[in-house]
Amino acid sequence: MPEYGHPLRFGSFITPVNRPVDHAVGLAQLSEDLSLDLVTFQDHPYQARLHDTWTLLSWVAAKTTRIQVSGNVLNLPLRNPAVLARSVASLDLLSGGRVALGLGAGWAWDAIEAMGGRRLSIAEGVTALAEALDVIRGIWDTSDRTPLRVAGTFYAVDGASRGPAPAHQVPIWVGAYKPRMQRLTGRQADGWVVGLPALQAGDLTRGNGVIDQAALAAGRDPGDITRLLNVTAGESAADLARFAVEDGVSVFILISDDPAELRHFAERTVPEVRNRVGEARGRHGRAVAPHRIGTPAAQREPGLGDDPVPASLAAGAVLPGEAGYARYTSSYFRGGAPALVLRPASPAEVQDAVRFAARHREVPLGLLSGGHGLSGRSLNHGGIVIDLGALGDVEHLGGSRVRIGPGANWGQVAQALAPLGLAITSGDYGGVGVGGLATAGGIGWLVREHGLTIDHLRSVDIVTADGALVHASAEENADLFWAMRGAGANFGVAVSFELEARPVGQVAFVQLVFAVDDMAAFLQRWGAAVEAADRSVSATLMCGPTPPGQQATVQALIVVDSDDPDLAVARLQPLAEVAPVIRQSAQLTTYDSLLALPAGGEEQHGRGEPRSHSGLIRHLIPPVTEALAALVSADAQFVVAIRSAGGATSDVPAAATAYAARDANFLLVVIGGGSAQFTHRWEQVVPALNGLYLSFETDTGPDALARAFPPAHLERLRDLKRRWDPSGLFRDNFFIDPDVTPTAVAAPSVAEDARP
Ligand SMILES: Cc1cc2nc3c(=O)[nH]c(=O)nc-3n(C[C@H](O)[C@H](O)[C@H](O)COP(=O)(O)OP(=O)(O)OC[C@H]3O[C@@H](n4cnc5c(N)ncnc54)[C@H](O)[C@@H]3O)c2cc1C
Repeated sequence: MPEYGHPLRFGSFITPVNRPVDHAVGLAQLSEDLSLDLVTFQDHPYQARLHDTWTLLSWVAAKTTRIQVSGNVLNLPLRNPAVLARSVASLDLLSGGRVALGLGAGWAWDAIEAMGGRRLSIAEGVTALAEALDVIRGIWDTSDRTPLRVAGTFYAVDGASRGPAPAHQVPIWVGAYKPRMQRLTGRQADGWVVGLPALQAGDLTRGNGVIDQAALAAGRDPGDITRLLNVTAGESAADLARFAVEDGVSVFILISDDPAELRHFAERTVPEVRNRVGEARGRHGRAVAPHRIGTPAAQREPGLGDDPVPASLAAGAVLPGEAGYARYTSSYFRGGAPALVLRPASPAEVQDAVRFAARHREVPLGLLSGGHGLSGRSLNHGGIVIDLGALGDVEHLGGSRVRIGPGANWGQVAQALAPLGLAITSGDYGGVGVGGLATAGGIGWLVREHGLTIDHLRSVDIVTADGALVHASAEENADLFWAMRGAGANFGVAVSFELEARPVGQVAFVQLVFAVDDMAAFLQRWGAAVEAADRSVSATLMCGPTPPGQQATVQALIVVDSDDPDLAVARLQPLAEVAPVIRQSAQLTTYDSLLALPAGGEEQHGRGEPRSHSGLIRHLIPPVTEALAALVSADAQFVVAIRSAGGATSDVPAAATAYAARDANFLLVVIGGGSAQFTHRWEQVVPALNGLYLSFETDTGPDALARAFPPAHLERLRDLKRRWDPSGLFRDNFFIDPDVTPTAVAAPSVAEDARP
């Protein structure tokens, strides 16, 4: 039962006949008057009785104000893709972001040839369409300053200038009835459009399967692809609701030129479909809210359905198609298309935002701080995003105390604290946000010496699901403070963190490349050396596949918190002796330099679906060393990072925070594709693990939850979830369902130390 998380939308599919001359325009205006979301036209540029569809779309866009317009679908063989890209961008700009691009490979080849087009086989048509998508997206991509070159067989452009960029991210919907075209849709398109009259039983299920697989293989989220279905007036609301619930269709387009049928569809069928789908999806359902595409600025009234956003947030809210919306279509890894973005500028406005989101529990809610989430989905499709970017102050409270907003990133924090001679251990990358990391753990360059980031938290201010602003510390709301340190994303929006920084001067940063003959034995020696090292040493080992015939190598990144080069070398030496070193570099630097981002900051262009697993483990000993060696063997494409944990992390009792695996000396992070091989090899590692660090895990289901938290922790978290968030409003990141009783899934190992 696929559910791709898109809001339900409804439209019309109109024959663009040119007699009477304004017949199609009138039906388009009627569609808008009936509050349909989109109006679409078939495209047969070889038929004399039809308007040219592109010209008609432009005319209709000018004669309407709100409705989205699209070809259904445009005939690619008769439309040059580079020119089409410019036409679409121009109309999107002129119409305030109301254009979608429906595209098809063409089929009436005699007529196409008669018009001067080129006849293509089915396979050629698929290739041509793939090339056309590269050309179209390339023309729209004005962030790239180089001339566009696409060396296709059917569409080649050689040095074309780019632009204009459309007003919004124009979705490209591909008409695809056969697996080859469906695979292309999964790889490259934003939507799959088919007509129900042309389908056989089971075609939707099969097509979804092909598209989803192709999307995953391409590193995309199947949810990135909207499913659109052209239907006739013969289908009942119950039929359509079934297609929504069982096949993930979110856009229904009525094929009709009859005003009475359009009226019946809009006034009777649409509300009934919404009700039925809402009921079927229930309280765990995803997006069903109307999507206000391209509302002109003059009529702009941000909200969901009939519910306007609170006055405090209205001016800053961003809707699809508006300036600034593009920021919310990509995070570091993933893409998104939220229905509404709220940008609070104070804790009180976050309270307003949460109360508003609580009234729309049926749509997804994302909390966006730094946008680097792997387990957490700070963007979504068709839901609400609360962007905490404006709450990014770093304030020195005196002594070593600092107050930090969730919207800061750790590079900014390090930079602000450096002049004070202070630092807070966080992560290894400055772009990561405070909000996501300081609610989960924080395993960084100083972890063995300073412990986790959450170990430096003294209090957190949280907006909880009921919209209250709650202070949590060891003295006040101590239970909530316990939960926020390791499972914070489940309990509210952290709006301010008070932390204890530590004095940090210069540090040594060392990179070693080892030649490795026996990976399993190397990992075991490395593990022992790290565990025996002084706590000022924290290290990450990066292991990747070795190309056939080449010497296997492993890279180590090591930080020693010492400004004395001799002392740093002495502390490093045991690590450097683990295997022959074939390259090395070392420098004395500052902690804030380690986290510094390139000038101009970081742009986020993620559109895919990351796959990564993480585990916490006490020791690198067999059999896990063998399983890890197999993971990075020659035929694999995975990267394994082995980060040190342990040290000061283990000084805190396991029961003291929601983060539990205090005795783990290592964090494993495996990044790769979602293939069966990946899953199988990771499954060999899992039994040896002693816990799971949420932040690097993309599998967030109940099994992973049970690996992350020992049974007593999980029970306490569930109790607290019932108390602080009984409706499960916060659920985008390792959702702890208050209603589920834990089952006997593999809990973190509590066996005695297995070290021989
Ligand atoms: C390149 C890279 C390097 C990384 N390095 C490290 C590292 O060295 N050490 C480490 O420990 N982790 C590291 N991480 C993982 C990182 O800690 C998590 O991905 C973290 O969730 C990112 O936080 P964010 O605010 O940037 O992300 P966002 O995408 O903004 O948020 C992620 C999730 O965090 C939750 N969240 C965000 N803000 C809040 C808030 N204010 N209140 C409550 N919940 C909130 C939400 O569930 C949200 O979906 C790294 C990730 C990346 C991509």
